[in-house]
Amino acid sequence: MKAYVDQDGCISCGLCIDICPEVFSYNEDSKSQAIDEDIPEDCIERAKEARDGCPVSVIDIKE
Ligand code: SF4
Repeated sequence: MKAYVDQDGCISCGLCIDICPEVFSYNEDSKSQAIDEDIPEDCIERAKEARDGCPVSVIDIKE
């Protein structure tokens, strides 16, 4: 399962990074970027929480 952030829509609020820093971090454009790897098993629930909490709904989580 992987996480994706639509770079065009991210407003850099930092919520996903606060909730799940193992998966999300700021890139050089100060937008959130997800790790390329699969979401670690013990972070999946928090990654989904971050997706659900994103104020602009730009996080996608897919198999
Ligand atoms: S919660 Fe959404 S808008 Fe906020 S930093 Fe993460 S991806 Fe960007």
